[in-house]
Amino acid sequence: MSAVDVRETASCAAMLRACEVCQLAESTSAYFKMAFADPHHLAATSEGIADTLGFCQRHGAELLGCALPERATAEVFARVADLVMPLLEPSRFGEEKFQQVYFSAAWACPACAFERRAAGRHAARLVRQHFDADQRNPFSNSPQLCVDHFQLLARTLKPESRMPALALQCDTLDLAARALDRLSSGTLRTAMTAGTEPALKRALALVGAARGGPSASPSAALAAALQACDTFEQALGWDGACPVCVEVERARQRWLLAVPLAVAHELDDWLFLPTCAEHVAIVAEHSDIALTARVTAHALRVASEQIHQQLRVLVRAAQTEQELAAARIARWGRRSRRRNAVPPKAPAPKLVRCAACERLAIAQLQATNRLLRLLQQGRQRELFQAGWGLCMKHHAQAYLMAPKGVVRTLLAADQARRLSEFLRQLKEPATPATPVRTEAGHAPMLGYVAELRRFCGFG
Ligand SMILES: [Zn+2]
Ligand SMILES: [Zn+2]
Ligand SMILES: [Zn+2]
Ligand SMILES: [Zn+2]
Repeated sequence: MSAVDVRETASCAAMLRACEVCQLAESTSAYFKMAFADPHHLAATSEGIADTLGFCQRHGAELLGCALPERATAEVFARVADLVMPLLEPSRFGEEKFQQVYFSAAWACPACAFERRAAGRHAARLVRQHFDADQRNPFSNSPQLCVDHFQLLARTLKPESRMPALALQCDTLDLAARALDRLSSGTLRTAMTAGTEPALKRALALVGAARGGPSASPSAALAAALQACDTFEQALGWDGACPVCVEVERARQRWLLAVPLAVAHELDDWLFLPTCAEHVAIVAEHSDIALTARVTAHALRVASEQIHQQLRVLVRAAQTEQELAAARIARWGRRSRRRNAVPPKAPAPKLVRCAACERLAIAQLQATNRLLRLLQQGRQRELFQAGWGLCMKHHAQAYLMAPKGVVRTLLAADQARRLSEFLRQLKEPATPATPVRTEAGHAPMLGYVAELRRFCGFG
């Protein structure tokens, strides 16, 4: 075993520890327990959900999947609908509160905010635990963190501590990526399962994808919509799902098919390969080891490059004696002289956003534009009103983009009508005779619970 191999093995052993903050998040369906189980929290929970117009796809699916007290859920969502309804009055369009809620709806989620606060508190605890009072000793038993949670911790460090910590993280990510090159160039055409390939499991933990993500398969409601509707016009009149959610899922499925083809044909990585934890986890879920290793190594290298860029900025800005000393220790120019087992591809023009996130954002925007164009025609407006309509997040985007006039008026009136219907269902006492809708993997859904998708999306 060469000296380099010994160093990599030692470093891999250190990586065996999964990210501490991710582990904390695993036990954080705490949000739902806190938000729905305690009667004292129900009012604040309702305000939180109304301010974000519902949950992100991940937490929406979690809410629909977990057995919450039915009375509390009905009470919360009745208040949410009451709070949201006034914002749909035409006179409120553009008002300060309206803008706060509608402009942030696309990415805001009360459960994500809860997790971020918990992660922030944990990162602060780690800093106190692992760094001395003057933050002079960032190497002593530093915790192993995934890319996102490392950034959370790094932001709290002073520049003289942040520089060596960033350099160390770059090395960790590069070593983990190199450990995957053997797997991705090999012929390990077996499915990724727990217990296989420790190097890959460690790398997935570093990307933050070890705890899994949303399923690669569409939810039952979206699968049915995709099968029944070949075109967006058909999805517009479909009564089982939001047409924009259907189009975004169609794009997600197309992207999933494109990833192995892009790798097989050696197309540009940055155009197809994911870098965020969620999309790397989705590829890992349904791909063989070689492809997962290839995708995970790409995500690690992109993360390493981003950290390296931060390091360069800090080194250039170093002024005080301590900062200048740290800049020398960081040895930030060292990586370019390193010999790589695999020759690097040309750098991506812009290492900013995950290729999958980018594609889905574009698909969502295109679907919304298409919806607004179609709604100019009377026949399509009737079709839209007969269909399921829009989930709140996609309604927010469409409503903001709609030109003033008949389309904007229709979007507000249609959503208000659907929320009134939702409220009526919530107030009806649930009886066993209420018609049930079932979805694969979920408990039977009583009447209004299916309507919760208005605030939970179709993830
Ligand atoms: Zn983490
Ligand atoms: Zn969320
Ligand atoms: Zn939607
Ligand atoms: Zn992504």
